[in-house]
Amino acid sequence: MKSRGGNMRRPLIAGNWKLNCTRPEAAKLAEGIVRGVVDVKGVIIVVCPPFTALATVNEIISETNVALGGQDVFWERSGAYTGEISPEMLRDVGCSYVIVGHSERRQYLGETDEMVNRKARAALAAGLRVMMCVGETLEEREAGRMEEIVRREVVKGLAEISAEQLKNLSIAYEPIWAIGTGKTATPQRANEAHEFIRNIVGELYGTKVAETFIIQYGGSVKPDNIAELMAELHVDGALVGGASLKADSFVKIVKGGQK
Ligand code: PEP
Repeated sequence: MKSRGGNMRRPLIAGNWKLNCTRPEAAKLAEGIVRGVVDVKGVIIVVCPPFTALATVNEIISETNVALGGQDVFWERSGAYTGEISPEMLRDVGCSYVIVGHSERRQYLGETDEMVNRKARAALAAGLRVMMCVGETLEEREAGRMEEIVRREVVKGLAEISAEQLKNLSIAYEPIWAIGTGKTATPQRANEAHEFIRNIVGELYGTKVAETFIIQYGGSVKPDNIAELMAELHVDGALVGGASLKADSFVKIVKGGQK
């Protein structure tokens, strides 16, 4: 756990399986992860399979140290919203976590900051824990706009979320140029961005809240770079895509997150 000003931040490592895994494949992956992390303590471990495999994976991970998360959620409870899934439905199938605002949804499905905020508020109101993704494109970084973009996504994403609710929300800083590309932000760059985000959280909620706030890093996290990322003061965990699809590599990342 990281201590800053006497406050502890428990590492949070989540696997985002994206559009991968039929139910049998998901079951095999979940079984391998559960076996591999059985002795891990001090790390919150979450897997986010596709919606169709949630129930299957829930049966395997229930009563273990692995929690279940959805990859997305809609903001309404029920109604004429074809194809959408409500926070209550995620709870019903065993989820305690949900990802909102992943860059792939912002990029390919036109999700706006306002939509991300509505999703986060609805998920929190239903008792889910939220992992909210933010991050800049390569073009934006090269144009010197990283801080502007990240500030906008954080401020708009957190609109009308109370300090009490914030205890159930983490931000995943995921520079888009590092997702699925094999390029990882250097630990120092990740740390700078995380510190920048923590300062914004401090401006919005006060430094005490910011000190305990969890900020995950995402973007080509692998077994061989997790330790150096986690060694940074402001890196409190990871959101892992590609490397979470093999049980042994995700287990190694979780163990690397223990430090
Ligand atoms: C992600 O999808 O959140 C992600 C970080 O993917 P990858 O680890 O594959 O870069």
